[in-house]
Amino acid sequence: MARSRRSPTKGAVPAKVCATCGRVMTWRRRWERTWDEVRYCSDACRRAKSRAIDVALEGAICDLLVGRRPGGSICPSEAARAVGGDRWRELVEPARAAARRLATRNVVEITQHGRPVDPATARGPIRIRLSTQQAPPPEA
Ligand SMILES: [Zn+2]
Repeated sequence: MARSRRSPTKGAVPAKVCATCGRVMTWRRRWERTWDEVRYCSDACRRAKSRAIDVALEGAICDLLVGRRPGGSICPSEAARAVGGDRWRELVEPARAAARRLATRNVVEITQHGRPVDPATARGPIRIRLSTQQAPPPEA
């Protein structure tokens, strides 16, 4: 495949976050007319939108974090185990994607070595903790 580096404005390439996998997608020529409506980085992500398992993984991440001490963190594999049981290994990457989506919504932070990292570009082992950027909901 030919690699085209052309962008609409030299320098800053528009980018947005895929609604399924949470990774950054940068502007491509084929999205010239539809960029405002583009929500998924790939056909696979479009097909995978809002699968029940992904909703379950997001819920598991939130449940696990709520059960942790304040500031505590979890590994994506813990959410994968909570949802997938014996088949948890298949769900590790979907769990990471669920964490990225939650991070995009500012529900959680993705950390490496205890420091927040950009969820869309982080590679390697990550941990998940509740976002510190928003105040906890007021006590009822
Ligand atoms: Zn995607």
